[in-house]
Amino acid sequence: MPFTALGLKPELVRAVADEGYTIPTPIQEQTIPLALAGRDVVGSAQTGTGKTAAFLLPILQKLSESTGRGTRALILVPTRELCEQVLERAVAYGRHLNLKACAVYGGVGMEPQTKALRGGVDIIVATPGRMLDHMGRGHVDLSKVCFLVLDEADRMLDMGFAPDVNRILSEIPTERQTFLYSATISHDVDRLAHRALRNHAEVETARRAATADGIEHGIIGVDKIKKKDALVSVLKLDMVHQALIFTRTKFGADKLTRHLKKEGIPAEALHGDKAQSVRQRTLDEFRSGSLRTLVATDLAARGIDVEGIGLVVNFDVPTDPEVYVHRVGRTARAGAEGLALTLMSPDEWILVNDIERLVGHGFPREVIPGLEPSVAPPPPYSAKPPPPTGPSIRARRGMRRR
Ligand code: AMP
Repeated sequence: MPFTALGLKPELVRAVADEGYTIPTPIQEQTIPLALAGRDVVGSAQTGTGKTAAFLLPILQKLSESTGRGTRALILVPTRELCEQVLERAVAYGRHLNLKACAVYGGVGMEPQTKALRGGVDIIVATPGRMLDHMGRGHVDLSKVCFLVLDEADRMLDMGFAPDVNRILSEIPTERQTFLYSATISHDVDRLAHRALRNHAEVETARRAATADGIEHGIIGVDKIKKKDALVSVLKLDMVHQALIFTRTKFGADKLTRHLKKEGIPAEALHGDKAQSVRQRTLDEFRSGSLRTLVATDLAARGIDVEGIGLVVNFDVPTDPEVYVHRVGRTARAGAEGLALTLMSPDEWILVNDIERLVGHGFPREVIPGLEPSVAPPPPYSAKPPPPTGPSIRARRGMRRR
């Protein structure tokens, strides 16, 4: 189905064509007509599915068609990086329309944001805390808001933003159209949906824990103390353009980055202890392709949308299996291909098994010659029961098939 069939106006169809999109992704195909028809929508979709355009395109269309003025769309997101990214998408998709958007997030000075808000914007993309800050200081008038987006709602709640989101909800008009997107629909997300949305349609694009089809998964068994060597050998062997490496802690990210540099692999760390300006510069370098290896913690990497990440490495196996799905979702974006490798030490076997159960299949085991683990890893999880070994129960009982 082409974009024109979704009911989008020519300016938006032209903008997506400028981006090189030829057909809508499943979430876009399902939610855009509903949104254009005025429905509230809960979309269960991971990043990488094209969910941002799924909510931005209908909002841009409706804003450009309305005669109203002032801030009419508020998009709440969990992190600064996602904030910048959604703004960048809004600007790209809205390039043939005459609308203004700005991003509002913490960790940077208030002043430029205050100026942008006072200058008048149609769309605000914001993290909840900083948004409340501006609201409290009277920098913004939200009385005209008629579109609200709660993006990555599960993350927002996980990060403790529920009270902030509720306060914002109580200060914007109830007469509005609301979209909620979340990778997982937990009980808390469902409660938020019932509080913030009205008679919403539910759209699900993928199984709860499905990872994108283009991802090849691999588990490398290795002893903990040899993980750094294993990573260096993977990075030197794999001729991928860009790699994103995940560590569990900020300290671990810094330590690993230093080690990679010492081994002649230029890398930078991205985590919450870095100044916002440094994080932004690192991300820009990664986005432009001049930085090929990025070592990040989960929170910092949330929403990183860089085309060309061919490899995601889990240096530490995540303790929450759903985090694995988020991490590997950074590669194989929108139909591309990518490799997700996990370095697994013996104490992490159980965590890998949890992940395999969640996604519903096992991942092949590999070892790096010279870096074999001291204990051989168990075989991959298998959803099917193992084939019977030895005589069947019937035979053991002396029964024979007639
Ligand atoms: P998102 O899930 O919104 O973070 O989008 C993931 C990536 O898919 C982004 O790089 C988008 O630019 C890209 N994308 C969104 N819609 C399409 C489409 N219809 N065709 C191809 N790429 C798309």
